[in-house]
Amino acid sequence: MKDNLIVVCGAGGFIGGHLVADLLRQGFSRIRAVDIKPIEHWYQRLDGTEILDSFDLKELPACRRAVKDAYWVYNLAADMGGMGFIENNRALCMLSVLINTHLLQAAREAGVERYFYSSSACVYNHDKQTDPGVTGLKEEDAYPAMPEDGYGWEKLFSERMCRHFTEDFGLTTRIVRYHNVYGPMGTYDGGREKAPAAICRKVIEAELNGTPEIEIWGSGEQTRSFMYIDDCLKGSQEIMRSESITFPINLGSSEKVSINRLVDIVEEIAGIKLRRRYNLSAPKGVNGRNSDNALIQKMLGWEPSIPLKVGMERTYSWIYDQMKTGNSKLSAVNRW
Ligand code: NAD
Repeated sequence: MKDNLIVVCGAGGFIGGHLVADLLRQGFSRIRAVDIKPIEHWYQRLDGTEILDSFDLKELPACRRAVKDAYWVYNLAADMGGMGFIENNRALCMLSVLINTHLLQAAREAGVERYFYSSSACVYNHDKQTDPGVTGLKEEDAYPAMPEDGYGWEKLFSERMCRHFTEDFGLTTRIVRYHNVYGPMGTYDGGREKAPAAICRKVIEAELNGTPEIEIWGSGEQTRSFMYIDDCLKGSQEIMRSESITFPINLGSSEKVSINRLVDIVEEIAGIKLRRRYNLSAPKGVNGRNSDNALIQKMLGWEPSIPLKVGMERTYSWIYDQMKTGNSKLSAVNRW
């Protein structure tokens, strides 16, 4: 297995970069890493892999080249970001449908053994997420469909595209619904960052500039769960390897917190207390979202468990170092 060619699409990004690094650590000898960004803007140096950079996977010929001779394909490529990005770029988010559709077509033609699709909790029906006290979203809560506009519709459609490629063409697919993944070596500025990284950045800015105030999007009462990258890598690969998880499945933490609590955690890590200014007109997404992990527990006897405080300490420390050394990857996410 470790000599088979594994293709990771979106390898210049956060999860894709970590996945390639993890496969290298495990001794996989043939990895192809693909991304639309030029290599100098990737989050990780991935020595020992075949790099296809500046490669637009919206194009079918590029997808054919990317998956040539592949055994397994991980599709982690998408035009995405936090709420600020997805609420203001619905068409761009929906255009990622071209990436998954063309990759599926190319994977089928190339006789790929297995194909992984990174879906999202944004597929869940909006009406089930109006209460901050929400009790975890179950896989069946995606239907009747009323997902997040733009980004969520693309994810739901692409999930079905995978399902039909399996049913009609026999391509084995695995579909994972990630709930907010965070950790070092991801986006923390430039407009595509998600809440954990954005809050770390704002607290660090306040600390470095001596301005004791933080802007919070919404009332801060909205709830979410956040999964540390190490749990994401373990879960993604176990689901990919599984012979029985043939349906979309949640991969997320069930440790639900309000955004205010997340700010408390970052303040505790930084050792400061900031005045909070609530911006009620900023994009804030649904009121409450959490992952119901009954299905993953049943299938794998496991669920993500790294405590938020532990993961946030590592994330804060990495972002702090980047900001201190002026090593921002802002350009990495915005220039392509
Ligand atoms: P990311 O933005 O860091 O990585 C995505 C990568 O895809 C980027 O490097 C980008 O350059 C690349 N890409 C975009 N368009 C491309 C194209 N046309 N051709 C080739 N490459 C292209 O995002 P991430 O956090 O690593 O997310 C990976 C996947 O997981 C995405 O599908 C995302 O929607 C999904 N997801 C992530 C989260 C999360 O919290 N991070 C949550 C739910 C779902």
